[in-house]
Amino acid sequence: MQFYNTLTRSKETFEPLEKGHARLYTCGPTVYNFAHIGNFRAYVFEDLLRRTLRYAGLRVTQVMNLTDVDDKTIRGAITAGLPLKRYTHPFIEAFFSDLKVLNIESAEVYPAATDHIPEMIVLVQSLLDKGLAYRTDDGSVYFKVDAFPQYGRLAHLDRTSLRVGARVAQDEYEKESVGDFALWKGWDEKDGEVVWDAPWGRGRPGWHIECSAMSMKYLGASFDIHTGGIDNLFPHHENEIAQAEGATGETFVRYWLHCAHLRVNGEKMSKSLGNFFTLRDLIAQGWGGRWIRYVLISGHYRQPLNFTFDALEASRTALSRIDAFVDQLAETAGGCEPSADLPSWAAAGRDAFDAAVFDDLNLPEALAALFGIVRDGNAAVSAGTVTPAEAAAIAALLKQFDRVLGVLQFGRVCDEAVPAAIQQLADARSAARTQKHWAESDRLRDAIAAAGWEVRDSKDGQKLKKRQA
Ligand SMILES: [Zn+2]
Repeated sequence: MQFYNTLTRSKETFEPLEKGHARLYTCGPTVYNFAHIGNFRAYVFEDLLRRTLRYAGLRVTQVMNLTDVDDKTIRGAITAGLPLKRYTHPFIEAFFSDLKVLNIESAEVYPAATDHIPEMIVLVQSLLDKGLAYRTDDGSVYFKVDAFPQYGRLAHLDRTSLRVGARVAQDEYEKESVGDFALWKGWDEKDGEVVWDAPWGRGRPGWHIECSAMSMKYLGASFDIHTGGIDNLFPHHENEIAQAEGATGETFVRYWLHCAHLRVNGEKMSKSLGNFFTLRDLIAQGWGGRWIRYVLISGHYRQPLNFTFDALEASRTALSRIDAFVDQLAETAGGCEPSADLPSWAAAGRDAFDAAVFDDLNLPEALAALFGIVRDGNAAVSAGTVTPAEAAAIAALLKQFDRVLGVLQFGRVCDEAVPAAIQQLADARSAARTQKHWAESDRLRDAIAAAGWEVRDSKDGQKLKKRQA
């Protein structure tokens, strides 16, 4: 399995520090509003990474932080006239429900920054003790970039342009402003009631120290993978490395993975252009979470992705093609005992799929392999050359693929036994139809639907299928 490591700017074979166990930190949301579709591109990429690691047989420990104290959350809370926790709480709830809509697997730990202030204070203290940080008159503490020669290695900064001694207080800034950055911000009236006590004075943590402290708490001083959107690379991730490695002297992270930007209709997403969408906006317009997820996984994570409504339509079409194929397999499979061997074209598709996902998450090629199976499979089923056992084996293969993709649906395949009560309704409906009691037939169909099943009439009689949410 290979990943493109931003640190070395090359593809590298992935070897976890601990055999069989991948430790992964993913920068999570700043909970000051509803996450937008560009944010979700990064979370879906991280979900693909997590799923691929598990597909490869690794145990995964993933930590995703919740930034619930920083410049933006404080500004939002003060504007709303609410205590910080009350302001961020609904956005945290919304975030978790959005993850479900996109079928994103849960991380093992979701630490909130405000629950880890003591760990941050310890880390800042250790940087002060090592001479890598200093206090200022306003009670703040800054990281001394000049004292850490490795600074700039991730972002490939030109250190000769360092403005030694220049300080930047805000959480987000551009490369041109590189300088000593705030580890701790001394309290001022703009922070309102948001304040904690530290040995060097009252205040609150800077954004960057939050991720260093929380990642090391749950994953250790040195762990395998750290990810985020490309806009997190500098200064956020560069600063995380400086803080962690400055304090521990160990390699913080071995593989850095970043996903590219998302554009909407070819333009940078912005409120003024009217192309700014939260996930909620899209769902309210009637787009399904599955279609949105499909759009987000269909590009390579390191390529900019252009999100359009045409792409959403196309993803709906693509998924219904796969759904029809899955239905076809289910019908052909009948009793559902998979054969030991796949037909050769399906085995070739499986090998292509695996090669693609293990090659730096090449989802465009993995999906092409899947559609190759759909194409060859439809042809083989029409030609009558697929046995029921082979159909069951191909369906099982697609289920394996879906451990990575998270977008397929498997109505009646194999494990969807029809409950006796539903079968009784269906039998009664069949009898009603034989006697041409159409109203009764419709009533029974509605009763079956109300119980979560769908009945279809085919030339071989009724077919029952579990309805998908
Ligand atoms: Zn972070």
